[in-house]
Amino acid sequence: MQLLRSTRLISRLGIGPLFPQNDTTVAALPAWALSSQPWRGVKTVPDSPVTTGRERLVILGSGWAAGRLLRDINSSLYDYTVISPRNHMVFTPLLASTCVGTLECRAVALSLTDIQPHLKDTWNKFFLADALAIDHDRKVVTCNNGSSEDNFEVAYDKLAIATGSQGSTFGIPGVEQRTHFLRDVANSSAIRKHLIENWNKANLPTVSQADRQRLLHVVIVGGGPTGVEFAGELSNFISSDLMRMDSTRARDIRVTIVEGMQLLGSFDARLREYAATKLHKQGVSLVKSMVKEVREGSLVLQNGDILPYGICVWSTGVGPTEFTTSLHFAKTARGRIAVDDHLRILVHSTRPEEHGPTTPGQVQHHHEESHEESSNAGFEPLKDIYALGDCCANVEGPLPSLAQVAEQQGKYLAKQLNREAQTQRATEQRPEWPAFQYHHLGSMALVGGSSAIVELGDANKPHLSMTGFKSWVAWRSAYLTRLGNMRNRFYVMFNWTLTMLLGRDMSSW
Ligand SMILES: Cc1cc2nc3c(=O)[nH]c(=O)nc-3n(C[C@H](O)[C@H](O)[C@H](O)COP(=O)(O)OP(=O)(O)OC[C@H]3O[C@@H](n4cnc5c(N)ncnc54)[C@H](O)[C@@H]3O)c2cc1C
Repeated sequence: MQLLRSTRLISRLGIGPLFPQNDTTVAALPAWALSSQPWRGVKTVPDSPVTTGRERLVILGSGWAAGRLLRDINSSLYDYTVISPRNHMVFTPLLASTCVGTLECRAVALSLTDIQPHLKDTWNKFFLADALAIDHDRKVVTCNNGSSEDNFEVAYDKLAIATGSQGSTFGIPGVEQRTHFLRDVANSSAIRKHLIENWNKANLPTVSQADRQRLLHVVIVGGGPTGVEFAGELSNFISSDLMRMDSTRARDIRVTIVEGMQLLGSFDARLREYAATKLHKQGVSLVKSMVKEVREGSLVLQNGDILPYGICVWSTGVGPTEFTTSLHFAKTARGRIAVDDHLRILVHSTRPEEHGPTTPGQVQHHHEESHEESSNAGFEPLKDIYALGDCCANVEGPLPSLAQVAEQQGKYLAKQLNREAQTQRATEQRPEWPAFQYHHLGSMALVGGSSAIVELGDANKPHLSMTGFKSWVAWRSAYLTRLGNMRNRFYVMFNWTLTMLLGRDMSSW
């Protein structure tokens, strides 16, 4: 899936006017961008016939960071255009629940017009498209919506890049082709379909015992919160629904988490231990190893062991997208766009041709999030172009790839842009921006049954940590209240009630 998406993006990139024409820039382009692409037309999106005279803010992406920016931007100060291949925001903390049908996908997909009703105004726009390139000298973004040969250009006065990240493969052979990532609703639907398919296939009289065992083995690579929550949801599904349906087959299902380091490494030791015990009680096995290769139907582990699987879900962390790495701005060693503490994008002041990694493959996964010096000295910010969320980092204080970071950055950027437009209207001066400051609210993870772990406050100095049923109630209440609109809250409450009363739906098509 991931490979297909990358190839789609690459094949749609028309080069030529999209990049500044100088030797150093061209030399620094990734090899795929230099391949002989057929020339395609580039259309410029005309300005709206309704002229408001306001500055044009273009937002790339429709995730946590973009969603919050869009919600908070003052519609009387900016005209905005959102460009994203998704017309909704995904409420990722509840995504694992959609893999087994505890929640339906619609419950976690928040429509952009519910987030910002002014998006329906004639002068504001949404384009269902990928951004392919940015020319900041001309202040245009080049886009393509996948169904057309023609690229189109969208002009901006201010640009916010919030295009997120993608699942990391660490270059391990077979990951992209044979595993499921869990990043959006398309992934969770595919996992759910595959689970039901394997459950039904395993029952066929033509299937051997060895194949039946393999088909009923779900392997999750990565013991972070996403992997653990998926394992927890899956064990609930097995013990409550599949056991009722066919207890013999349900008892044959195995769930294994493969983790090379520590399970839930970001939580404190007591919570980690609680989670491991809880998962073990629910029949989830833990294998401490790294994966060397993903073959058709089996994983090759670092110690040489072969682990057969029916479904493999890959959840080992995130890295930059092809779009991020292709951009000609300074990058961190992990390939994220380098920003300062105002979220302004940086370029090297003396060596502008230096961009850091230019393809996801060049990213140094195990390095500190840093330019060599871990400082922004030698870099200068560009005007009117910002990055926020997973796609960027400030090397002087890199933040984790979390929804709460992205959301707080969206809130900060909206506030500063609103203030800037207001001040400029009144005084024609640009006000000074305060530095962005992140406040860590805490972490939560569902560990199966009616149990969760909750850590409030900073991970190194937690103010409060809880386990068990009360944490599960806190987990559900927190996410229900954080769901931005009534439509999704109703969906979630309705789905939870239906699951509790009637069980999960097992139909598949
Ligand atoms: C299953 C799961 C569970 C999670 N649980 C938690 C949790 O409990 N707590 C927490 O804090 N964090 C959690 N996270 C992490 C959190 O979701 C991310 O950190 C957050 O989504 C980052 O927000 P973002 O806006 O930077 O990127 P995203 O939310 O990923 O949004 C990126 C957007 O950019 C769009 N896009 C991509 N490429 C382009 C392009 N070329 N042009 C235009 N648009 C583009 C995408 O379609 C998407 O709309 C979870 C993540 C996952 C996957």
